[in-house]
Amino acid sequence: MIKIPKFTMGVGDRFGKQGQAQLSALIAAREAGIAVCPVWNKSHREHSIIHTDPGDVRREADAAVNALGWQDPYFVDADHINLTTVDGFLDSSNFFTLDVADAIGSPAPTADVDAFLSRHAELCAPVVIDGLDQAVELSPARAKQITETYLFAVQEAGRIYQRIVDAKGEGTFVTEVSMDETPQPQTPEELLVILAAIADEGIPAQTIAPRFSGRFNKGVDYVGEVAAFEREFTSDLAVVAHAVKAYGLPDTLKLSVHSGSDKFSIYPCIGRALRAVDAGLHLKTAGTTWLEELIGLAEGGAEGLSIAQEIYRSAVGRYDELCGPYADVIDIDITRLPTVDEVASWSGPRFAAALRHDQSCEEYNPDLRQLLHVGYKVAAEMGARYLDALDASRDVVATHVRENLLDRHIRPLFMTMPTTG
Ligand SMILES: [Zn+2]
Repeated sequence: MIKIPKFTMGVGDRFGKQGQAQLSALIAAREAGIAVCPVWNKSHREHSIIHTDPGDVRREADAAVNALGWQDPYFVDADHINLTTVDGFLDSSNFFTLDVADAIGSPAPTADVDAFLSRHAELCAPVVIDGLDQAVELSPARAKQITETYLFAVQEAGRIYQRIVDAKGEGTFVTEVSMDETPQPQTPEELLVILAAIADEGIPAQTIAPRFSGRFNKGVDYVGEVAAFEREFTSDLAVVAHAVKAYGLPDTLKLSVHSGSDKFSIYPCIGRALRAVDAGLHLKTAGTTWLEELIGLAEGGAEGLSIAQEIYRSAVGRYDELCGPYADVIDIDITRLPTVDEVASWSGPRFAAALRHDQSCEEYNPDLRQLLHVGYKVAAEMGARYLDALDASRDVVATHVRENLLDRHIRPLFMTMPTTG
């Protein structure tokens, strides 16, 4: 079976131009002693908005790897696929994120629920788990309720998994199960039952993406209580380690954090929790690469700045259309958006300061940032004009992309941090 390395990170970018810049950040990390494996990912939603196909991501990844002589493993992720979208990704991907969030709550056949519960008497009582002060609170009623909520979704993941095995063969790809795009977080006891069901279903999951507590809005920082998140994350790590032993799941199984990018305030506690138990992590975080492109364009000269300003103007005018597909994962206060005229008067550095994710900067505007984050459709419609501008500002954009990934993500998360925070 293809085994996933301990630390992996989602990379890839909307327009397929920053593969080398992203990979160069991972090369710098490796030189500093941190092995992080790149996983190029792009969801069906992004492909359909930009009019690219999964083969483009494979080509971008292979080209970057060849150009920079990357010798370590790398993956191409069919991100958030389901039974209706998986087929288009079969040829190009060796990592599959089976998204079954929409199936949560659909009823599994009663006989299947009963069979699961009778196979798993151990889940019908409190479960003592190494590393946790308190037993995981389970009872017959709670186990039944969790099974009724999640068993069908796990069975659906089994159906998607089988479809991929039929096409590609067993052991030739990495499997992730994701349940993150749902309003209700999964508790550690729910995660334990879900993992037992995944094992029963015969899915060799190597990453699991639960929905964590708090808000993971696109491109901006975590919103929620950091200490509570840390307790939940630590419990989830212990549950995963327990499930590997108890249910024979792959020993590479690890948590996957679909961060929506830039969850800077929880990186220190995630890093601490991982180091405490020597656990691995998959982090999807590179979605804001396109915002680094915009920052580079705004700073790169008159044409780049006017493109950035036009994208903002269109994004304000097409607010509902652009925000609709992301309604669950953005939180924009429109009263705090600058007017189109104001933005049109900005200099390049002023535009960059509003957009760059630097919370210590007074000009940083998270509402503008979220709107532009979902506004990539406007750039896609500009076609050659946008892509040519990227080529004209290639070096400055690449520097922003690389430094963003290395300095704001990889270093704070994977390099030893002070214990405060
Ligand atoms: Zn996700």
